[in-house]
Amino acid sequence: MKIAIVGAGAMGSRYGYMLHETGNEVFLIDGWKDHVNNINNQGLIVEENGQIKKVKIPAMLPGDAVEIPDLAILFTKSMGLEAMLKSVKNILGKNTKVLCLLNGLGHNETLEKYVDSKNILMGVTLWTAGLAGPGHVVLSGDGSLEVQNIDPSMEVEAKEICDVLNKAGLKAHYSEDVIFSIWRKACVNGTLNSCCTILDCNIKEFGELKQAPQLIRNIIKEFSDVATKYGVELDVEKVANGIEAIYDPSQAGEHYPSMHQDLIQNHRLTEIDYINGYVSRKGKEFNINTQYNDLFTTMVHAKEQLLVK
Ligand code: NAD
Repeated sequence: MKIAIVGAGAMGSRYGYMLHETGNEVFLIDGWKDHVNNINNQGLIVEENGQIKKVKIPAMLPGDAVEIPDLAILFTKSMGLEAMLKSVKNILGKNTKVLCLLNGLGHNETLEKYVDSKNILMGVTLWTAGLAGPGHVVLSGDGSLEVQNIDPSMEVEAKEICDVLNKAGLKAHYSEDVIFSIWRKACVNGTLNSCCTILDCNIKEFGELKQAPQLIRNIIKEFSDVATKYGVELDVEKVANGIEAIYDPSQAGEHYPSMHQDLIQNHRLTEIDYINGYVSRKGKEFNINTQYNDLFTTMVHAKEQLLVK
């Protein structure tokens, strides 16, 4: 299958590499010039369990892509999605399936402006990846993903895409309710990412705070109130219990969430507007009280002003 990875940072490089290894015709599209040049000049460096491989996968800047793929997998950061869709719209053919795997909320609304809803697949991924530098991806741990079509008539096509992903070892399964899963994952990011970023601590340290249980429930309650408007029912206690299981060091306790890595460690902008910020915006629209999400959104933006130059 011809597959474009649209946004080939850490996660895009992981998916691109795994799909390339199983014989798909993969090309990487990314706006970071040094990254694209390094991949083309030396190959994508893939580091896994201390082993290093160099893999030849074509890479290009968004404006340079001309071939129409069967599948485009979106892996920009949330705030780069719309600009990326605009700059690659020439390669999104009338039969190109577009799979969105970004974290965050509201991406289906953005996609519908550029892609026929028949071709939109939404997903949630539990794989992880990091970049050690331009052209150098670091892979660790195991993962999986779930995928579902937005248009009910496209189930067969979505299942075919799952098969391609599975052949690459990505452990994809067809989801019966991907929008629910997207909201549930957004609750994890909307609590652990935002709290650990503002408090500058890892997940285990956050979980040990006596304020943590009430704080996460207050945040999740607001997610749940807004989600109801989209027909999604989130059980606050169940979601909170799932998040509390992650505090365990054998899970992800020792990790700093990606928002902490982006902002506190690397001084990059965050996806806050698509997590707590989305709930805050929609709260205003639907006249729902979202005071915790309002405050976290404001605080993360304030921290961005201090750290991102
Ligand atoms: P990323 O930051 O690695 O890449 C996103 C974009 O930023 C790419 O265009 C990349 O080239 C560019 N970029 C990265 N480092 C840069 C630098 N130093 N200078 C200039 N440009 C740079 O993003 P990601 O981690 O692959 O995340 C993509 C999406 O997947 C996000 O929505 C994220 O929340 C989600 N996600 C990430 C992970 C993970 O483990 N990384 C896991 C699950 C979901």
